[in-house]
Amino acid sequence: MTTINATNVNWARASEAVAAAAPILLVTHLNPDGDAIGALVGLANALCERGKTVTAAVDGGVPEYLKFLPGTGQVQADLTEGQWALMISLDASDEERTGRAGAYGRAHSEMVINLDHHPTNTMFGDVHLVLPEAVSATEIVYHWLVALEHPLTVDVAQPLLTGLVTDTIGFRTSNVRPETLTVAQRLMEAGASLHEAVARTLESKPFSTINLWKYALQNLDLDGAIISATITKDDFKRANIPEPTDGGLVSELAKVEQAKIAVVFKETPQGRVELSMRCALGYDVGAVALALGGGGHKQAAGATIDGPLEVAKPRVIKLLREAIKRNELGTPETHG
Ligand code: AMP
Ligand code: MN
Ligand code: MN
Repeated sequence: MTTINATNVNWARASEAVAAAAPILLVTHLNPDGDAIGALVGLANALCERGKTVTAAVDGGVPEYLKFLPGTGQVQADLTEGQWALMISLDASDEERTGRAGAYGRAHSEMVINLDHHPTNTMFGDVHLVLPEAVSATEIVYHWLVALEHPLTVDVAQPLLTGLVTDTIGFRTSNVRPETLTVAQRLMEAGASLHEAVARTLESKPFSTINLWKYALQNLDLDGAIISATITKDDFKRANIPEPTDGGLVSELAKVEQAKIAVVFKETPQGRVELSMRCALGYDVGAVALALGGGGHKQAAGATIDGPLEVAKPRVIKLLREAIKRNELGTPETHG
């Protein structure tokens, strides 16, 4: 796990790099969530306001429900040309998570800034703004803009607030501190709407997601304290959902009283298996994800592993049972 030291956070070098660089490429992680897109367009809008030439990209583009955010119309879904002085990776714990856009960007940029809040970050940049205690990547972007004395506009504040809202599930996760609310207050003072951020993300789902859950819940299972559901390639097809995303199902399963760990297995079109995991305080699915080549936080993590499902599922369940045992044996843990 990443610990804070001088090499993790270098505001001065990052700011110098941005001041010197033109043009700049911003990328984020695959299957982007509200924090990924919030950080991407929040920082892109701020850099544009500072007179920079900015390209923002993520494979597959911006999910429909996040297109209300200003600047999302400029995000490229398939990055195949360009040359940059600087690439900034946002909310991605490792290089692979930045997909084809990240790989292309690295090959065509002179320098990489890695801005992230995952404790499993692999420190793949030349300059790091990696702060695991931040509740979202957008919180780090906010602090950076304050350091740059950049006046907050609503076009920057709304994406940043949206990342705070989605990664903390509406300021409800265990890592929310009084300072988190101060950041939210500043963003609202700059014109961001908390109601809109919540209404568009946490309180809104397309019918196709609920329809997908209908299939996923046919495989619902409670095995001791581990609750799981499985979504096959065919389920995604039947529900007309092109990307292997569970639409937040894993967080719903994690609410089950009898469960300590929730996992959703998603079969990708290529036959690999994506995992989304959540756990109660005191448990650590981040460590399990890391052992499987993925990453995340203690309470929320994921990985993409080899299929087929029949092989992947018992492999993961075994590791999760061990994670539960470790906790029962009273392994010292810091919660949160
Ligand atoms: P999700 O279940 O997709 O909402 O992801 C929960 C957390 O795990 C987020 O912090 C993700 O960034 C992280 N995560 C999910 N999938 C992966 C993966 N394949 N590799 C690394 N981190 C992941
Ligand atoms: Mn994210
Ligand atoms: Mn995040």
